[in-house]
This record gives sequence, C-alpha cells and structure tokens, in this order.
Amino acid sequence: MGDLKLTAVAKDFGTVRVIHPTDLHIRDGEFTVFVGPSGCGKSTMLRMIAGLEDITSGTLEIDGRVVNDLPPSRRGIAMVFQSYALYPHMDVFENIAFPLRVERRPEAEVRQKVQAAAEVLKLTERLKHKPGELSGGQRQRVAIGRAIVREPSVFLFDEPLSNLDAALRGDMRVELSRLHMRLANTMIYVTHDQVEAMTMADRIVVLNAGRVEQSGTPLELFHRPANRFVAGFIGNPN
Ligand code: ADP
Ligand code: MG
Repeated sequence: MGDLKLTAVAKDFGTVRVIHPTDLHIRDGEFTVFVGPSGCGKSTMLRMIAGLEDITSGTLEIDGRVVNDLPPSRRGIAMVFQSYALYPHMDVFENIAFPLRVERRPEAEVRQKVQAAAEVLKLTERLKHKPGELSGGQRQRVAIGRAIVREPSVFLFDEPLSNLDAALRGDMRVELSRLHMRLANTMIYVTHDQVEAMTMADRIVVLNAGRVEQSGTPLELFHRPANRFVAGFIGNPN
C-alpha cells in the first residue's frame, strides 16, 4: 500500500505562502518525480508528506486515511536526504541496522533484514567496512539501505544524488530504478534536474513558485506541455 492523496494542501511560513492549494493523487507503486527550479517548494512538499513540516491547510491522505496529525514514524514513510548522516564509528551493517536497533527488534530479524537490504544494494561485501572506507556512491547506498530496512510503503528522496559526480549519478539512477522495480513501492523523488526527471519517472509533477504547473507522464509533458514554463523547463536541460 502507498496511495497518497493531497487535497487543497497549502503551506505558509509566517505570512508567506510557499505552497498554494494543491491537489495531487500519487498512486500505489508509482515512481513520481517532483521537478522544478530551486526554491519552488519541492522540499517543503516532501517534508509535509513525511510529517516533518505541518500542513497549513488542506488534507493529506495515505491509503484513504487522513494523516495530517500523524507523527512521521507512524506514516509508513521513509525519507532519504541529500546530505545523509552515517555514523562514522559504526560499520555498514550497524549503520543499516540502526532503525531496527532503535525499535529493539530481535537479532535474527535484524540480520535477515540487513542482509536482504545489502543484497539489493550490492553492499554484501562491504558490511564490515566503516563509512570512511567507502566511495560516495556506496555511502549513499548505505543511507538508502537504512531507509529500506523499515520496509516503508512510501519512499521519499530529496535530491539524493546531487552530491555525487556525473558518472556516479548515472549509475545511481539506474540502481534506484531497479530498486523501484524490485520493491514495487511508491517513490517520490525530488530533483531540479530535468534529465533525472525524464529518465526515472512514471509521472512528473512540475512545480514553479509553489504551484503545480503540470503533472503527467514524461511523454505527455514533452509532447503536450501545458504552458511555456513546462515547455521551457522540460525542453532545455540546463
Ligand atoms: P526547493 O526544495 O524547491 O528548493 P523549498 O521547499 O526548500 O524549495 O523552499 C520553498 C520556499 O519556502 C523558499 O522560498 C524557501 O525560502 C521557503 N522556506 C523553506 N523552508 C522555510 C522555513 N523553514 N522558513 C521560512 N521559509 C522557508
Ligand atoms: Mg530542496
């Protein structure tokens, strides 16, 4: 399960409206990409969905239940950030296991889940290594592993690849798409990179100045942009 419905969701910071009332339906299992220029409200949208930021007005439903007042830990959502903090003194196994340790899960379950996550992310050979001994891409995979072990029905990524070099970003895009096929859960991926949006998304939501300009498949946006902004944004990958 992982069906999200936003109805007239808006966000004010003080007297400034940063998200105008927005309706969106994100279907179970979809890989949705929020794309738009810096400052348009992508992170704020994601943080409201995760429960890290209050929703000023409107309703957010997950699987038919209004979750506006539910804390992040009870939404069945995991979030991976651009700057991910791994524990330098713990090895890869313990870094991935961390959320399960916090929940005091039995050792056998911890082992099984960490092994499964490591296999998906090709980290099996690295479980005994410390973060300092890993490449940037491997460290990012550990951060994703830590999110996977909790088996969320919704996965949120906020520009997770923007600190990686171009070659690694390409590899990670492919890996995230594979991960999505394997887990078949709902993923919302935020980026300001049009190429990432076009290549990874089932559905793209184009944001601009706190509003949805258009939402559709990559082909729909490319061939039938709703307005000049979308045409320019999707058409010019710079
Ligand atoms: P994006 O992720 O698309 O770059 P953000 O969601 O971070 O954009 O920000 C959207 C707008 O909201 C920006 O104008 C930003 O300055 C403002 N904003 C974000 N967080 C806060 C905050 N905690 N307090 C006040 N304004 C904020
Ligand atoms: Mg952001």
